[in-house]
Amino acid sequence: MSEKKIKKIGILTSGGDAPGMNAAIRALVRAGIHAGFEMYGVKRGYKGLLEGEIIPLGTRDVSEILHRGGTILMTARSKEFVDKSGQEKAKEIMKVYELDALVVIGGDGSFRGAYELSKLGIPVIGIPGTIDNDVSCTDYCIGYDTAMNTALEAIDRIRDTASSHERCSVVEVMGRDAGYIALNVGMACGAEVILIPEVKYNLEKDVYKVILEGRNVGKHHYIVIVAEGAGDVQEIAEKIETFTGIETRTTVLGYVQRGGSPTVKDRLAASQMGIKAIECLEKGKTGRLIVEQGGEIKDIDIKKGMAMKKQITAEELSENLKLF
Ligand code: ATP
Repeated sequence: MSEKKIKKIGILTSGGDAPGMNAAIRALVRAGIHAGFEMYGVKRGYKGLLEGEIIPLGTRDVSEILHRGGTILMTARSKEFVDKSGQEKAKEIMKVYELDALVVIGGDGSFRGAYELSKLGIPVIGIPGTIDNDVSCTDYCIGYDTAMNTALEAIDRIRDTASSHERCSVVEVMGRDAGYIALNVGMACGAEVILIPEVKYNLEKDVYKVILEGRNVGKHHYIVIVAEGAGDVQEIAEKIETFTGIETRTTVLGYVQRGGSPTVKDRLAASQMGIKAIECLEKGKTGRLIVEQGGEIKDIDIKKGMAMKKQITAEELSENLKLF
């Protein structure tokens, strides 16, 4: 909690960009000004904070961004900020620019940075924005729904051609450490196999056997969804083709999943989380993370939030197999 009355609030976006970050910036600026705060944008995440890239933001500065992917504040990663000296410097910069509080929109790493700043006595609020949906304390992160829908649309197209040629398609989706996109997109597109970094797999039993069983019951195509961190798609595809004799192709969806206009879910989550953050600041409540838990937007203590854990289990993954 801060002793000083909060007047000037900085907003930054950090880590990977996610569709809906702009909607969150808009909500923060407009709800903030409505509440009587002066709002500022910090460009290029913690890197820009350390370089004093701070600009005032008025209600009209956030016009026409609600529907746009990416982030108007831009994002960057900063090694300098990970060190204590960088964080102390950030505190000094905030003092020079008279910023009383900072709202950080980003993923787990960005939240770790915000937590470090809060330990230095800086009033912070975190809003989860990452397509990976891997921030432990929240059921939902801004950008996740849009990224899943983008991936789904692409896979539906791949499926059409895979079906016509009776091929197997191995599709890599984003998720270096977490398989949330793979798990849900896999189920939504009717994938035969989903491979994620959290759950160990055996190629013979979990991949080849499932594909061959599919062929034996008359399937004409096979979709294998692989989260980025679960293995090399090219290698997996070559092994599938060698073992099963089924022609196999790979597609890496990559950054296409990061962009695009946010879905209704992401615009709403971003807007509601932005409003919630401003409500906290109005009450002088800081050191908070805005989260969605059980369908409700809440604020929780940053220390408690950072200590929480969530991970996909083998049981959750195996549910997909019941659909064949
Ligand atoms: P995404 O999930 O989209 O990758 P992220 O927020 O997890 O988003 P990171 O690159 O991990 O992305 O973190 C963004 C920035 O936060 C880093 O460049 C760094 O400046 C800061 N940061 C990350 N981890 C820490 C930490 N442990 N302590 C302080 N700052 C950190």
